[in-house]
Amino acid sequence: MRDIDHVIVGGAGGSATRFGDVFDPNTGKVQARVGLGTQADLDRAVAAAEAAQPGWAATNPQRRARVMFNFKALVEKNMDALAHLLSSEHGKVIADAKGDIQRGLEVIEFCCGIPHVLKGEYTQGAGPGIDVYSMRQPIGIGAGITPFNFPGMIPMWMFGVAIATGNAFILKPSERDPSVPVRLAELMLEAGAPEGILQVVHGDKEMVDAILDHPSIGAISFVGSSDIAHYVYQRGVAAGKRVQAMGGAKNHGIVMPDADLDQVVADLSGAAFGSAGERCMALPVVVPVGEKTADNLRAKLIPAIEALRVGVSTDDDAHYGPVVNAAHKQRVENWIQTGVDEGAELVVDGRGFQLQGHEEGFFIGPTLFDRVTTDMSAYKEEIFGPVLQIVRAPDFETAVRLPSEHQYGNGVAIFTRNGHAAREFAARVNVGMVGINVPIPVPVAYHSFGGWKRSAFGDTNQHGMEGVKFWTKVKTITQRWPDGGVGDGANAFVIPTMG
Ligand code: NAD
Repeated sequence: MRDIDHVIVGGAGGSATRFGDVFDPNTGKVQARVGLGTQADLDRAVAAAEAAQPGWAATNPQRRARVMFNFKALVEKNMDALAHLLSSEHGKVIADAKGDIQRGLEVIEFCCGIPHVLKGEYTQGAGPGIDVYSMRQPIGIGAGITPFNFPGMIPMWMFGVAIATGNAFILKPSERDPSVPVRLAELMLEAGAPEGILQVVHGDKEMVDAILDHPSIGAISFVGSSDIAHYVYQRGVAAGKRVQAMGGAKNHGIVMPDADLDQVVADLSGAAFGSAGERCMALPVVVPVGEKTADNLRAKLIPAIEALRVGVSTDDDAHYGPVVNAAHKQRVENWIQTGVDEGAELVVDGRGFQLQGHEEGFFIGPTLFDRVTTDMSAYKEEIFGPVLQIVRAPDFETAVRLPSEHQYGNGVAIFTRNGHAAREFAARVNVGMVGINVPIPVPVAYHSFGGWKRSAFGDTNQHGMEGVKFWTKVKTITQRWPDGGVGDGANAFVIPTMG
């Protein structure tokens, strides 16, 4: 049995007495176990981070950026191996696993140019003989707590920006697929980051709580499900930390009567079923506007869904692979049953899907519901599986209202040829990321990623300038160099103004 260890300076030396199983989702078998760390493991990592961070912060930004360049080159060199490792624990197909890593690398590319955005502001002569300038300084020690569904990209969203801005970073990846984060930390060391600048501690709630309460950790970035995001946000903020906590999603795709339906069906197939629906930017709800649009869309969707190929994650021809573990498979299948019980029309049923030779794998066939309504819990909650729901809307106003009133507000898409409708929709919809004829509107790395409502707690997004703001604090200096004359002492007791 392969053991997956922490990456802590001085050796893993985990004190774990509890372990988590890491499955091969293709076969359903346990392939490794990961020690669930304790406060003592975290304390060792924090001590190493505290020792390393001041020197790293004092290293000039260009030299830090060079480590990012080296890291990018190393990850690219190891892309195939990383993608296979990722796929073997997560279950997403290899091409998609490469996309996972590539989207993270794009944040690292942003970090290669970070010295440019770390420059402060300066005002000469803000008052008589007075200059004002500001600088961005690292928080110190930051931590990241990440979900299973993007074990490459999401850690890189966080540690790329945190490290490039001069912080030490402790990553607590998902215990379900922890091997790629470990490899990334090893590659960061190889790239030239000093020991202690990127460490990985494994664990579950116990480790998360230790991170939330640790007095030396100044900022925490979390991505995962909403209830836990909210918990992390509240407890971290109560402990005086800066916290950003991204949560779940239920993204809607609005299909206007003028949309190109063939294009929509192609886009929806990938966005709803790619990665078995285990993406926070998946599109699990489609909202055709008008009965005719709905009927036409449904007629085209059914054969497209039936043509999807579900296969093992190493099958180059598979559209998607298994879900991450048996518990999640059960959960998704329970949601399908709930949808049936609540009165939605089950058009294509993916339950009971079996892949020949891989009968124990965690596969779920693509599933389509029609006539889903907003009062159903299967609509209100995130399913996070290969399940697409059609919610019919009579008009544009309803189509704007549905995603706007949903508890989640991560992403949304509108498919139309009408520029005015798209513009109105983008301006009015109460959701953080909008696609116009783009089914998965994940912003590029130099913009920033973040949802609204219960999809994100806190006030900064991931990566781009928002990430830089999160991982740094602003210091503002007001300076005067007296010229030898005596100032106006009478004013010393009055709040200084520049008047
Ligand atoms: P999860 O909430 O189960 O786990 C996320 C992290 O929290 C993991 O590191 C886990 O170890 C930790 N954790 C789990 N239970 C905990 C508890 N009780 N107390 C403290 N920490 C705990 O999420 P997941 O299943 O790994 O990932 C899927 C979820 O993440 C989905 O809801 C998805 O929408 C969401 N997600 C959101 C985004 C986004 O940017 N908004 C991106 C990716 C995934």
